[in-house]
Amino acid sequence: MRWSQSFLVTLREVPGDAEVVSHQLLYRAGMIQKLAAGIYSFTPFGFRSLRKMIEIVREEMDATGAMEVDLPILQPKELWVESGRWERYVNDGILFHLEDRKGGEFALAPTAEEAVTDMVRRSVTSWRQLPFNLYPIRTKFRDEIRPRFGLLRGREFLMKDAYSFDVDQKGLDLHYAKMDAAYRRIFERCGLEYALVDADSGAIGGSASQEFMVVAETGEDALVFSDAGDYGANIEKAVTGPLPEPWAGEAEKPFGEANAPTPGITTTEGQALHLGTKPERIVNTMIYEAVGADGKAWLATVLIRGDLTINEVKLPKAIGALHVKLASEEILRKVTGTRPGFVGPLALLPFAENPVFVFVDRSLEHGRNLWCGANKDDLHHSNVSIPRDVMGIPAFKGVVEVATARDGDPSPAPKGGLLRIKRGIEVGHIFKLGTKYSEAMKCEVADRSQKMVPLAMGCYGLGLGRTVAAAIEQNHDDVGIVWPVPLAPFACVVAVLQRDANVLEAADRLYEELRSAGVEVFYDDRDERPGVKFKDIDLIGFPLRVVVGGKGLARGVVEVSTRREKKASEIAPDRVVDVVKRSLAAGANTLAV
Ligand code: ATP
Ligand code: MG
Repeated sequence: MRWSQSFLVTLREVPGDAEVVSHQLLYRAGMIQKLAAGIYSFTPFGFRSLRKMIEIVREEMDATGAMEVDLPILQPKELWVESGRWERYVNDGILFHLEDRKGGEFALAPTAEEAVTDMVRRSVTSWRQLPFNLYPIRTKFRDEIRPRFGLLRGREFLMKDAYSFDVDQKGLDLHYAKMDAAYRRIFERCGLEYALVDADSGAIGGSASQEFMVVAETGEDALVFSDAGDYGANIEKAVTGPLPEPWAGEAEKPFGEANAPTPGITTTEGQALHLGTKPERIVNTMIYEAVGADGKAWLATVLIRGDLTINEVKLPKAIGALHVKLASEEILRKVTGTRPGFVGPLALLPFAENPVFVFVDRSLEHGRNLWCGANKDDLHHSNVSIPRDVMGIPAFKGVVEVATARDGDPSPAPKGGLLRIKRGIEVGHIFKLGTKYSEAMKCEVADRSQKMVPLAMGCYGLGLGRTVAAAIEQNHDDVGIVWPVPLAPFACVVAVLQRDANVLEAADRLYEELRSAGVEVFYDDRDERPGVKFKDIDLIGFPLRVVVGGKGLARGVVEVSTRREKKASEIAPDRVVDVVKRSLAAGANTLAV
């Protein structure tokens, strides 16, 4: 492909909304354009990289025996009502939905569980027809609250989502392990450094779930790793080892011995200062409105050490609720008789409408000689002992693990060590759905004993545009993209420095030779100054560059360099194909001269 006949326009300026480097470089290299917030067009160059990503994913999925399908994105509401997701996704605002001319309602699918489960239940009746794994590579739609960072968080984006179907958990475990291995190969082929973390399965539901994360400062996810190397989790799921207990070895003092006023002081830090203690000696009591799986509403009073915060993603599962939200001040006043800042676990007023249950975070399991809100404005109790004063009350339901992990906390894994928090970009997510969708949508088969059972499903998502962008986050320098060879729009560029007949002729010949040797080569044959060409070539990030100029040719050489090293070597024209091919085969980090 010749530049003079291509649609390729590079830019000097960065758009105002391009906060991260992948967005800036994709835009400046002329690979993507914004059509609307979170909606991008791919130019021919951008689409070449995306297509490479698609091919890598397709090859690795096919290699596992998974089969590609094509599922509609425009999907009837009824299907989404059946799975139970319509209302929640509409309420969350994430679902794009619309009406047809007859008033029928449709969703623009954010994932394909419903569509694929429907496909399978229509055709499969016996365990003998299993197992299989079906995957579409299709645009998905999500009305994200904050579409940003270019391809990293779009509202329309390309996803590969695979769905495995098995008659039992054992089959599902096998599929899950296969997908895990395939994802590793995919991200390795893309030249990505990645980490695997335990993930909360969020709104999709299910049990086991892991995310593939590209560690990058611009990542929107907080990740927790042990510095001993044997633990990684999304902060939404992370747990810590037991924390040191400041009260260890102390004798329990009588309750309320030194009750103290805390007039108008509502923050834990302020109270600690005022009471002459530390936040870890204060019990924070949070009250949540919870809804159980049975649809019944109740109130959860959760006690946690004052220096910790409750992780509201972990909370519902830990206390056996479907979802929770912080109770309003009005409810708080009814249950406790006071306002936020002075709430405590003791003497909760019976709440007329709903039952109240008390949970204690593990950080307080043995807590004693602590301060807590007195359920009276501007007053704190002293010397609360959790085992003595809280665990004995009828409303106490148990010890739970709901604290948010912090940098420096002890690791929960066998090797010990301390937890460190890093940022990451989620590029892939695999989870065992189990029978959530197959039960809701009656996707059943007769098992070996002729009993009808819902299928065990796994689902495995991978963002293609996001992965391409993540590759740039990890592979760039001050002047542009440094493409890993497998994702580069073209592997090699030939640039001609002057448009003299003999230079053009030599460059044309090299270009043709590289092409016939099967190298994906782009030809910068423009009538531009060398400085302009070099800038563009660096910006676009071709892994290999071949520069043909009059002076070199007079000495019988051209200049060849890799994008990563940017160190030119003089090579005789008849050796160029060989050097380029061998360098590319080795990843083009250095030149194979
Ligand atoms: P996030 O937490 O980043 O919103 P998610 O957990 O909602 O993502 P999944 O439902 O697991 O995403 O989707 C599977 C994959 O699709 C993700 O791992 C990611 O690579 C990609 N993806 C999800 N949302 C977007 C988006 N808005 N733009 C681009 N890619 C996305
Ligand atoms: Mg996810």
